Amino acid sequence: MDKNIRIAIIGGGPAGLSAGMYLEQKGYENYVIYEKTDHVGGKCHSPSWQGKRYEMGAIMGVPSYYAVHDVELFAGVTHDGPKLHRTYRLPNGKVDHRFDKKLWNIPHLLKLKKQIKKFGEILETKYKGYDICGHRGVSEGRYEGFAVTPGREPVSGVNPNLKDLALPFKKFVELNGVPLVQEIWVQPFTSFGYGYFDEIPAAYVLKYLDFQTMMNFVNVNLWTWKEGTQSIYEACNAKLKHPAILNAAISKIVRGKKVEITVNGKKEEFDKVIITTPLQVGTINNPVAQGLDSYLDVNEEERELFSKIDYERYDTMAYITNPEAYPEASFYVVDNMTPETLGHGMVFYMRWGNEPEQPLVSYVLRKHKDAGESVEQYKARPELGYEETKQIVLADLQKLGIPPKKEAGKDKIIYEFQAYYFPHVFSEDYANGWYEKVEAMQGKNNTYYAGEIMSFGDMDETIEYSRDLINRFF
Ligand SMILES: Cc1cc2nc3c(=O)[nH]c(=O)nc-3n(C[C@H](O)[C@H](O)[C@H](O)COP(=O)(O)OP(=O)(O)OC[C@H]3O[C@@H](n4cnc5c(N)ncnc54)[C@H](O)[C@@H]3O)c2cc1C
Repeated sequence: MDKNIRIAIIGGGPAGLSAGMYLEQKGYENYVIYEKTDHVGGKCHSPSWQGKRYEMGAIMGVPSYYAVHDVELFAGVTHDGPKLHRTYRLPNGKVDHRFDKKLWNIPHLLKLKKQIKKFGEILETKYKGYDICGHRGVSEGRYEGFAVTPGREPVSGVNPNLKDLALPFKKFVELNGVPLVQEIWVQPFTSFGYGYFDEIPAAYVLKYLDFQTMMNFVNVNLWTWKEGTQSIYEACNAKLKHPAILNAAISKIVRGKKVEITVNGKKEEFDKVIITTPLQVGTINNPVAQGLDSYLDVNEEERELFSKIDYERYDTMAYITNPEAYPEASFYVVDNMTPETLGHGMVFYMRWGNEPEQPLVSYVLRKHKDAGESVEQYKARPELGYEETKQIVLADLQKLGIPPKKEAGKDKIIYEFQAYYFPHVFSEDYANGWYEKVEAMQGKNNTYYAGEIMSFGDMDETIEYSRDLINRFF
């Protein structure tokens, strides 16, 4: 491809900024990144409170975040943040001893350990190729991409077993005789807002929580960033030859021989466009997301495929509690990680050890696809309302003994964040080749698709996908 072509990148989150970085590294310097807000980072969002940054979006990484590491090297930052601690509580605030090694039910523990070991072996053998970035070929029993190794060697092969990955994770582990592993996988999955195992295809669960990554979570071998995850992308943006254009209001994109973008009322012409923003079409009930068809000349094929996308309603709320109420560490409420307890707080995170007057952040989910419900029925059914859920979480905080401090009779809530989170498709569409169809559209109409939906909604998978895309097409 001619290195002088003019490329527009829509979105200044990890996917868009890293696309700019990888393009530059391949010698394409004629690119523009459009970001609609007044800051970069997207869901890596780290506001400040009393001089220190806290996290409303992404928090952590693992040592196998090789793509995030590419950005760290480019941007000159490192994972220098506070160590993460993990404790457990019951919904009534008492300590949850289920993971206390001294009190553990030994026969159950042995059974669980055996199933984890078996699962690791099955993934490496029966499901060889399960963990590479992206979903190319999976529904056809193939794998194609780059290995999850520091060198990320290109790999490809045929493996018909991979078709099982379209099943919801619960069915997938039952099929393989290892249902107990859900007890371990659930913590960094459901409580991190990625939905429930009876609704989400195993492919997503395992792209993110491949065996290696899961063991890093088990051993709390995790990365954080002192200035917050947003600082990675701020530093990356500052190093780019063309930092993102902020407050860019795109009203129209028309594609023909060239790509014509109307931004802040002015027409700009490009040769190619890379879209890293939500691909979902139609009205999205989220304050920050807009349907792709509200500004792109979406064609029939795109409309048909992108109307299948759903996302998680995952809210975070930061607040200040009373000095004596601060927990000794962040904690999980495992009992609230079930579809039956939808709307209840699952994680309570604080970054700086036991320091009073620091933000505590709660995490909650608001929709679940019930058993037997079709995608259409599920989409038509209203979700749990934002305000209603907030009241449930506030009641949880009372029970947990960490209620917001009152100031002038009001709860001291300092930030509320309603993300358009983890876009994905459900099992039927996955099995019917949704990804193969979208991958076949890459490059048509001078358009490329990247961002969370193309692999998985975490920092590393989105950046790795941008790398993959630039390697394949530019
Ligand atoms: C609460 C929470 C916790 C998380 N925890 C972790 C974690 O611990 N580890 C991890 O790896 N990941 C985590 N994530 C996920 C991670 O933040 C995302 O996967 C990642 O940010 C996705 O990058 P992206 O660029 O694809 O999308 P986004 O981060 O969503 O960025 C998209 C960008 O596009 C912009 N945009 C949208 N529409 C337009 C438009 N029309 N025009 C121009 N710009 C537009 C947005 O403003 C945004 O800046 C978490 C996310 C949340 C919300």
